[in-house]
Amino acid sequence: MNLIRGIRTGLRHRPLRQASRALREVLFPSLCPACRAAPGPDICDSCLSEWQTVIDPCPYCGAPLGAAVSHTPIICPRCHNTGIGHVRGVQVLGVYRGILAKLIGDAKAGAHNGAVQALAKSMAERIHLPEPHVTIIPLPPNRGRREGPHLATACAKAVARTHQRPLQQALRTTRTAAEQHRLLAHQRQQAVRDLFRCTHNVSESILLIDDILTSGSTLAAAARCLRQAGARRIWACCLARSVDSRDPRPAVDAGTPATPHQ
Ligand SMILES: [Zn+2]
Ligand SMILES: [Zn+2]
Repeated sequence: MNLIRGIRTGLRHRPLRQASRALREVLFPSLCPACRAAPGPDICDSCLSEWQTVIDPCPYCGAPLGAAVSHTPIICPRCHNTGIGHVRGVQVLGVYRGILAKLIGDAKAGAHNGAVQALAKSMAERIHLPEPHVTIIPLPPNRGRREGPHLATACAKAVARTHQRPLQQALRTTRTAAEQHRLLAHQRQQAVRDLFRCTHNVSESILLIDDILTSGSTLAAAARCLRQAGARRIWACCLARSVDSRDPRPAVDAGTPATPHQ
């Protein structure tokens, strides 16, 4: 027991932790978390070439604008009336299908294949920060440690660390919400009603981070809560956006980083 405790204590020290990581890398070289064939731990170029992004995303909701652009400023018909509540704008890094859907699925399933870290790093590298503090869509209340790292939390931490922004955990969920992309449109509003509580006073300027953007109901509910707690400028960044495959508008491109917006 003492030996195990000693090893654990030793690994808290940075040089030992680095040495342990280097040794593990020699014994078990990390692989691309998507194909598990190319060297890792980052997503390999071949897999990145399959990462689909939205062409001309609506700056308010990240949906493909396609040929539907007819308003000034340029926004999609859906956002012409409402947008995503108090969210001023959304950046999405890809389309929820193919390689990105696989990585997010692995990350959310708790697969220990480096998907969480690779996605968090991708967000930190690709995100455009308007101005704000960083905050997150928080953990569901009954989430267990065995489920592995929480994807949105890992992304928020990576963004905060990379861009040297404060991380403010201002939200908590009151219950576990159903996965939005599994719900019908009319069920989504109901699923997020009173879902969030603010834990303390919040910054005036906030960046919300989440994994999948479907209808925007979750972001809108979080933004409403933050607004009531004092936030005035709320932005969002999501790893992936659900895009309806029956949508006739031209939607996606492969291998191109997401276009940041102001
Ligand atoms: Zn790969
Ligand atoms: Zn829109």
